[in-house]
Amino acid sequence: RAKKQGGNCYVFYDRVIFEDTLRAIDTTLQLRTAAELNQFELYYQPLVDMRDLSIYGVESLIRWNHPTRGLLAPGAFIQLAEESGSILPMGIWALKRTAEDIRTIQQELHCDLVFSINVSSPQLEDPDFLRHIRELTNTCGIDPSLLQLEITESVFVRDPHRIGKLLQEIRALGIRIALDDFGTGYSSLSYLAQLPIDVLKIDQSFVRDMMRHDLNLEIVKLLIDLARTAKMSIVGEGIETPEQALALLHAGCNFAQGYLYSRPVPLSNLLLKLRQGIQARETRLCQ
Ligand code: C2E
Ligand code: MG
Ligand code: MG
Ligand code: MG
Repeated sequence: RAKKQGGNCYVFYDRVIFEDTLRAIDTTLQLRTAAELNQFELYYQPLVDMRDLSIYGVESLIRWNHPTRGLLAPGAFIQLAEESGSILPMGIWALKRTAEDIRTIQQELHCDLVFSINVSSPQLEDPDFLRHIRELTNTCGIDPSLLQLEITESVFVRDPHRIGKLLQEIRALGIRIALDDFGTGYSSLSYLAQLPIDVLKIDQSFVRDMMRHDLNLEIVKLLIDLARTAKMSIVGEGIETPEQALALLHAGCNFAQGYLYSRPVPLSNLLLKLRQGIQARETRLCQ
């Protein structure tokens, strides 16, 4: 009997793997046409100055409006897009949409926000990437000082020299580079000083455990000191409680992003938030 049950277990396990594989193949195939079928959407999460709660920028986060599975977060498809190459048309779509949305915000509210855009390794390895970035600033007339690209340490694994050079060229256009999920990678801290990085984003795993483990708070403080020494600005990710915000402020980190301030929202919702922020400031100035 035991043997029979064990046998059934294997059958079940095989079936799960089989179904996962089928779904991955399906997703990969559907990703190939997702950009041209206009199935992607950009959500925006505010980047906040914790001292006065003002929104100084937004990070764009892609969503996939899947025909049968509903709105999918990147966790369900980014890796497959990277492995299959669909990340390239997706990335180009995202740059174009960002340019449109920047113009909408500027027309409606006359305010300048920093736009922070995630890019992954295959995009940086695309020989046309720099051209697409140049188009964004030249043809679309977007002020490069309002643009920021978010990369992770993993982009330096394959050809650190080439990537370093590319990032220098991007920076020469006036665009900032942010190191995302900082602290989760494997590059040594001494390496950091040589990379062309303007902003460090402290990974949310440190923020999450900061209040529970003293060691994590100490690590966060070290990262903040390090960023200051290297003349980089620093942003805390994943702030969910006022206690976390206070701890970061005390440690010398003024900029943050997290559910405490806002979840990622569609453009229409972001416009509302920005309007409210502007109104609140005007009321305060009038008082
Ligand atoms: P990321 O760049 O580190 O983005 C931050 C992630 O943390 C987002 O997840 C955001 O929704 C989530 N987050 C923000 N605040 C909080 C918080 O307070 N608590 C918690 N628990 N989570 C929070 P999301 O939108 O699912 O994106 C996941 C990842 O997908 C991003 O991580 C980024 O690496 C990648 N990604 C997103 N959009 C793009 C894109 O357009 N292109 C590329 N190449 N990658 C993207
Ligand atoms: Mg990011
Ligand atoms: Mg991050
Ligand atoms: Mg991340």
